[in-house]
Amino acid sequence: MTAVRMTAWQRPPEVTRLPVPEPGPGEVLIEVAGAGVCHSDLHVMEWPAGAVPYDLPFTLGHETSGRVRAFGPGARSPGLDEGDAVLVYGPWGCGICPACARGAENYCRRAGEIRAAGGGLGADGGMAHHMIVPSPRLLVPIGDLDQLVAAPLTDAALTPYHAVKRSLHRLVPGTAAVVIGIGGLGHMAVQLLKALSPAEVVAVDVAEDKLDLAAEAGADHRVPAGEGAAERIRSITDGLGATLVLDCVGADATMATAAAAAAVESDVTVVGLAGGTLPVRFGAVPFEASVAIPYWGTRGELAEVVALARAGRIRPHVETHPLEQALEVYQRLRDGRVEGRAVLVPGG
Ligand code: NAD
Ligand code: ZN
Ligand code: ZN
Repeated sequence: MTAVRMTAWQRPPEVTRLPVPEPGPGEVLIEVAGAGVCHSDLHVMEWPAGAVPYDLPFTLGHETSGRVRAFGPGARSPGLDEGDAVLVYGPWGCGICPACARGAENYCRRAGEIRAAGGGLGADGGMAHHMIVPSPRLLVPIGDLDQLVAAPLTDAALTPYHAVKRSLHRLVPGTAAVVIGIGGLGHMAVQLLKALSPAEVVAVDVAEDKLDLAAEAGADHRVPAGEGAAERIRSITDGLGATLVLDCVGADATMATAAAAAAVESDVTVVGLAGGTLPVRFGAVPFEASVAIPYWGTRGELAEVVALARAGRIRPHVETHPLEQALEVYQRLRDGRVEGRAVLVPGG
């Protein structure tokens, strides 16, 4: 089968051939339908050896949808059959610690010992015709949802879902929420905010076409990024600022905009990994603003995201490409030319 593999640090991945894997004890073999192309992969390719504790080589792809093809010994579970359409929950923890026990494998207490964050991030992921998932607990059935549209739910939607959910109690009528960076995560964040809260949603991006996508996703206001963006947001919110600023870029400039656009008693939530720094001191952030850097989401939350999608309340905007064109698609993402999320299709 074709697979897209990281074989060296600070080098592009390789499109190569591998044998179809066989599921071992407890494992499940998935035939991949679609693999979302996340900006985090571009960071992983740029970071030097040692920045993340992953062993090479491994197959990329941490946003995977597909069908169950075979169970390894002991892996059969009630509620899951051969042929079922599923999403692969991305962060793979130990499955046993208190965080994993409540489904928060994104915060597994043994993460340091595992040397992989999940399939596509240190272990073999979904940019291949088949992938092995270590346990049926990491699969979420999706019923008759379109499998290619559903793939980005596992990260592009789950990450902002987790990030937004912790602020919902603050997003009462009359408040505003800002999303900075309307890419894969950001366009889902806009949809999620519209589906889950009465807040006015303000979209910020450097690119006009991304602001168009935000408007399609339901954003109430569009603000070009950069100088004057925070002032625009303050004027939209009658000078109060935003109760949630979700920064899906995480650069110095966007974090500065986030702090300047936030209200008193607000959440400044940074999910983008661009490596920026936000100085926190008296006068630099509004009174009683909380700054958080959440990571991905829980298994239970992925089931909630799937339920929202099945109810027609959210729908990723996807462009599909053949798996074999992975390198060109990564370049498209680097150049800011992907609209919503790119999904790679094996044999497609
Ligand atoms: P993407 O490339 O699809 O989207 C990025 C968007 O940001 C684009 O629309 C781009 O035009 C916009 N942008 C770039 N610079 C900007 C600026 N200065 N101001 C405003 N907008 C700007 O990326 P994505 O896949 O949505 O990922 C976004 C970020 O989130 C990445 O850094 C990724 O690594 C990170 N991420 C974090 C988590 C987590 O758990 N914390 C999970 C997934 C992705
Ligand atoms: Zn990702
Ligand atoms: Zn654990």
